[in-house]
Amino acid sequence: MAAAAPLVIVGAGQAGGRAALTLRAEGYRGAILLLGEEPDPPYERPPLSKGFLTGERSLASFTFATTEALAEAGIDFRPGCRVLAIDRPAKQLRLADGGAIAYAKLLLATGRAARPLPGAQADEPRIFCLRTRADADQLRAALRPGARLAILGGGFIGLEVAASAMALGCAVTVIELAPALLSRCVPAPLAAILAARHQAAGVRILLGTGLQAVMATEQGLSLDLGGGRRLEADALLVGIGAVPRAELAVAAGLATDQGILVDARLQTSDPDIFAAGDVCALPDPSGNGHVRLEAWQNADRQGALAARNLLGAGLSYVELPWFWSDQYELTLQIAGWPARAARTVTRAIAADACILFHLDEQGRVLGAGGVGPAGLGRDLRLAQLMIERAARPDPAAVADPTRGLKTLLR
Ligand SMILES: Cc1cc2nc3c(=O)[nH]c(=O)nc-3n(C[C@H](O)[C@H](O)[C@H](O)COP(=O)(O)OP(=O)(O)OC[C@H]3O[C@@H](n4cnc5c(N)ncnc54)[C@H](O)[C@@H]3O)c2cc1C
Repeated sequence: MAAAAPLVIVGAGQAGGRAALTLRAEGYRGAILLLGEEPDPPYERPPLSKGFLTGERSLASFTFATTEALAEAGIDFRPGCRVLAIDRPAKQLRLADGGAIAYAKLLLATGRAARPLPGAQADEPRIFCLRTRADADQLRAALRPGARLAILGGGFIGLEVAASAMALGCAVTVIELAPALLSRCVPAPLAAILAARHQAAGVRILLGTGLQAVMATEQGLSLDLGGGRRLEADALLVGIGAVPRAELAVAAGLATDQGILVDARLQTSDPDIFAAGDVCALPDPSGNGHVRLEAWQNADRQGALAARNLLGAGLSYVELPWFWSDQYELTLQIAGWPARAARTVTRAIAADACILFHLDEQGRVLGAGGVGPAGLGRDLRLAQLMIERAARPDPAAVADPTRGLKTLLR
C-alpha cells in the first residue's frame, strides 16, 4: 500500500514553523513536510532590524525551531527548497529543483517580500532591503561607524534600522514622502514622540521628500531628491513596505486580493489548502471585507491555529491584533481596532510616554496604543485587558496619569 500523502507546509517562517511544531504537539503522527526557500530553520524576524543588526543578538538566540528540534519531532524540514507551483487537481507541488511532492493538505505560509525600489539596479550592492537573515547580514556589513546611511521610508523597518544604525555610529538620513513619519498605521501623537527621539539621537529626517533617482559612483550613491536637492550616501536601505507572496495561490486559481483570501478558519477557497501569517487576508470582524494583520504575534498564532484546523478542529481565528516596535529605549505597542473608534482619550504620561485609548460610541475600549520607555509595557498590557473585557472606563480617569489603570478595568 502506498504511504499516505503528508501534510505539507510551504514557507518555514513564523507561521510555517509554528504550524509544524503545533501539528506534533497536537499529537499528529503522520508525515509532515516543511519546505522553506531560505537556508535557515524557522527564526523570528523582529530582531533582524534591532539586536541582530547591532550585533547584540545571535541568530541562534531567535531561532525558534532548530534543525535538531525539527528532526527530533520527526518533521521533514527541507531548507533551500523553493516551491514553484501547486497542481491542485493532482494535489502536488512542483519544486524549483525539478522534483514534485504530493500533499494530503497544504498550508501556505509564504509571508511577504520587501517592496523593491522601482527602477533600481538589482545588482547594486549598496542598495539594501530587509526581510531575511541574509539581508540583515549584508546590511550589517555596510553599517560601519561613520558610514552615511540613507533610508527610504519612515515606517517601522526604516525607523528601527535608523535607531540600530545610530547605535553603530552611522550618520543616518530618513527620506519620507508623507508629511509625517509612520503615518500609515500609527496615531500622530505617538509617531511624534518617536520622531522627536530620532531627532534627538541625530537622525536627519526629510519629510515630504521623494527619491527621484539613484546614481551609483565609485565614491558612493548620489540620491536625487528632486528640486535640485541631492544626498550623498554610502548605503541606501529601501523600507517602502512589503507585498504578500501570494504568487503560488494566484497561479493555482485560489481566491486572492492583495493576499490569499481565507475564512475565519484560515481555509482558502480550496478546502484542502489553508493559509496563515502575513500572506493571508482574513474576514474583518466588522464585516467589511478582509484584513491582513502583518505582525509577529498574528503569524505565530495563525500558524498554530492553521495546524489545528489542518487536523480538522474547525476553529475560528479570534485573536486581538497586537504589534510592537522597539526604537532606542522606547517601545511602541498598538492593540485592537483603533480605526473603528468613535473617540480617542489621551493619557499623556511624560514628554516621551503616552497612551491613547480608542473608544466606541458606548465608551467601550476598542483599541489602545502607546509609546514610552519599557516600563510602559505594564500599562499597555492593562489596556489590552480592557479591550478584551470590553471595559467602559471613565474617560476622565483614563486620561489622568495619576490614576492607576488597574482600578479602571471594569
Ligand atoms: C526586519 C523585520 C522586523 C520586524 N519587526 C517586527 C516587530 O517588531 N513586531 C512585530 O509585531 N512584527 C515585526 N515584523 C513582522 C513579523 O516578523 C512578520 O509579521 C512575520 O515574520 C510573518 O510571518 P510569516 O510566517 O507570515 O512570514 P515570514 O516569516 O516572512 O516567512 C515566510 C517564509 O516563506 C518562504 N517562502 C515564500 N515563498 C516560498 C516558496 N515559494 N517556496 C518556499 N518558501 C517560500 C520565505 O522565504 C520565508 O522564509 C518584522 C519583520 C521584519 C522583516
